[in-house]
Amino acid sequence: MAHDGSMHTDGAKGRPMRERRRLEFAVAGVRGVVRFNAPLKEYTSFHIGGPADVLVEPADVEDVVQLTRQTHEQKLPIFVLGGTNLLVRDKGIRGVVVSLGKLRAIKEEPGSVLYAEGGVGMPTLIGHAIRRSLAGLEWAAGIPGTVAGCVVMNAGTRLGEMKDSVKAVRIVSPKGALMDCSAEAIEFGYRRATLPKGVVVGVWLQLRSGVRADIEKVVKDYLHYRRDTQPLTLPSAGCVFKNPLNDSAGRVVEATGFKGTSVGDAQVSMKHANFIVNQGQASASDVLSLIKKIRTGIVRKAGIKLELELKIVGEV
Ligand SMILES: Cc1cc2nc3c(=O)[nH]c(=O)nc-3n(C[C@H](O)[C@H](O)[C@H](O)COP(=O)(O)OP(=O)(O)OC[C@H]3O[C@@H](n4cnc5c(N)ncnc54)[C@H](O)[C@@H]3O)c2cc1C
Repeated sequence: MAHDGSMHTDGAKGRPMRERRRLEFAVAGVRGVVRFNAPLKEYTSFHIGGPADVLVEPADVEDVVQLTRQTHEQKLPIFVLGGTNLLVRDKGIRGVVVSLGKLRAIKEEPGSVLYAEGGVGMPTLIGHAIRRSLAGLEWAAGIPGTVAGCVVMNAGTRLGEMKDSVKAVRIVSPKGALMDCSAEAIEFGYRRATLPKGVVVGVWLQLRSGVRADIEKVVKDYLHYRRDTQPLTLPSAGCVFKNPLNDSAGRVVEATGFKGTSVGDAQVSMKHANFIVNQGQASASDVLSLIKKIRTGIVRKAGIKLELELKIVGEV
């Protein structure tokens, strides 16, 4: 409180000064990039999302340790994103948002094992595996997320899923402790994994020695297939709904007549009915209204309740 009894605010967002101080303490001394009021639309594949109170790109793992410890001390929430399976609501995310964009090292270990830092993108990792003639990640060709996000989501395609390749993960706990966790201790399900709480900063992948030309061919063929069947030229967050048992969500959305339906600039893709695309200026509320329309319509028309694969985060 100020001497006159009023509350100081930081102007831009009208947030109380006290909160701003806690955010500043949380990021104090962090060597990476720190941005207050960072528009998250710049960090999501949907190009949608309100601001993060503060967005941090830690310089390295020690920076993640320091940031998580200080954020915990300030009793602030922390959220990690890669940004490709997310709908961030229009009012953004309170507390600290972390992007691991600077944790991009890949190391080779004996026995066809790769260690990738959490921020390594799947396309980069697959490119590395091809150059080293390591097979086992071809199924993931075309998935744009980070390797850490792919473990947390147990990302998958009809060719395979993350759990097939994960050997162990390195995590920074909410109190800032580094720990390694073997794949046996992780419970993987359909687009989910039960991991200890914290920031995944590295992943060990068990691959196998293969023939470079063969690996490359599978990857190229799958990328072509995706280009032919998915709307890759417009911003999206991949598949919106999980597939119902023995069926495909895209088929259900199309069969119930929702292909092409739109709210504002959010549209059910004409190319793949399980994708919602941002045709320009879509807001999170446009996407949410469209999702609601599709889900209630499908319950009414087909009696099927589609579950979300997309993660919805942030303040309403
Ligand atoms: C064009 C397109 C195609 C896609 N195709 C596929 C596909 O074929 N199969 C598929 O499964 N997915 C697909 N996706 C979705 C997405 O790429 C995957 O779900 C991916 O696993 C998300 O990774 P991410 O790093 O972007 O994580 P985000 O989407 O940002 O986050 C997902 C969840 O993981 C958490 N998280 C992320 N990073 C960390 C971390 N380092 N530590 C702790 N928690 C973390 C987040 O907090 C959130 O809860 C596609 C997306 C697009 C845009």
